[in-house]
Amino acid sequence: MSFRSLGLEEYLLSAVEKAGYESPTPIQEQAIPLVMAGCDLMAQAQTGTGKTAAFALPVIQNCVENDSDSGEVAVLVLTPTRELARQVAASFRSYGLFTPRKLKVVALIGGESINDQLDQIDRGTDIVVATPGRLIDFIERGAVNLHACSVLILDEADKLLDEGFAEELDTLLEALPAQRQNLLFSATFPDKVVTLSKRLLCSPLEISVDAEPTVELIDQRVIEVNRENRGQLLRHLIKTESWDHTIVFTATCRGAANLTKKLRLAGVNAGALHGDLPQAERNDVLDQFCRRKISVMVATDIACRGLDVSRISHVVNYDLPRSPEDYIHRIGRTARAGESGQAISFIGHEDMAHFKLIEKRAGINLDRTQIESFELIGEPSENQKGGAPVKGKRKSKKDKLREAAAKAEKH
Ligand code: AMP
Repeated sequence: MSFRSLGLEEYLLSAVEKAGYESPTPIQEQAIPLVMAGCDLMAQAQTGTGKTAAFALPVIQNCVENDSDSGEVAVLVLTPTRELARQVAASFRSYGLFTPRKLKVVALIGGESINDQLDQIDRGTDIVVATPGRLIDFIERGAVNLHACSVLILDEADKLLDEGFAEELDTLLEALPAQRQNLLFSATFPDKVVTLSKRLLCSPLEISVDAEPTVELIDQRVIEVNRENRGQLLRHLIKTESWDHTIVFTATCRGAANLTKKLRLAGVNAGALHGDLPQAERNDVLDQFCRRKISVMVATDIACRGLDVSRISHVVNYDLPRSPEDYIHRIGRTARAGESGQAISFIGHEDMAHFKLIEKRAGINLDRTQIESFELIGEPSENQKGGAPVKGKRKSKKDKLREAAAKAEKH
């Protein structure tokens, strides 16, 4: 299958050639003809499978074909994070390099000068890529009108349909015309999201590409370690296993900042990416990480979705993600575009039950290991024992006695 046989015009064929793509990826093969035909779509595809081009290329072609050059927004792409919005806007610009009329793509995201964005909008816009909060700000100021918008794309749709964005999404849907094409793209579509998406979509077609090939390329490791020893273990592994391009996920902004500081003190070339930083700093850190000027990026979950940084060798769950979906999104930062990679989760006594749940819901079952000199010590407390027994770990005498007593009680 070639891009040409999918019905793409010359100006797009030149753009994909310039990007170095030889043939369409499976999600592109499936999605491009359907998007071109104007269908509503619910597309499940792992990040790294080329899903941005799967919606951007046909949407650009439709835009050119229906071009009224009115300066009004024709396409709206929503993303849950600013970083992803910038990335998607950049993709639209590069895929649209050779269109007969240059389409105007504007990213409306928080944390950056609103005046610059107002200036860009004033000059006319075809495609807006936005995070919900900043877009609502523009609508309330009367600076953006979506009445001519005929395509709505939710990238990382499951996150946007999540409770955290519910109110903002409702406000935006009210500002959009009822008659429009809706495209939902995400690596995961939990049942709740499928139900919520029904109110958005009109007779949607569902497509999905097998997530397995990407996940299979990820070597997933689970290392048992006491919470207080995680920092030292991380530094040890970075050094002894020569990790070169690594994302470390923490649960909080403060956790990311502290860990970065400690890594830097230990001589690791690290940078932090979290929501408490000014946007300029966030952009700078991500940019440096992409250009491999820093080797370890310590991030909260704002980096877990959609970001396309090539050749990330290791993803570390320093703190476990809250949901199995986020586990999949996080580990998907590595092993992109056919590369291989490692995803390492640190778990202490307090994480055992939660990790078991992640495994169950993600349909995986991983061996636990320990690293010499960083062995997990101590006993789990009563409520930490909600988790299943740990594979490969010797049971303590106390555990054996407790199990025997419980068995005796049952019979
Ligand atoms: P995405 O899933 O949209 O984040 O894309 C992941 C990466 O795949 C990006 O770096 C794209 O430039 C690249 N990509 C997209 N489509 C293709 C293709 N057909 N062939 C090769 N690389 C591609």
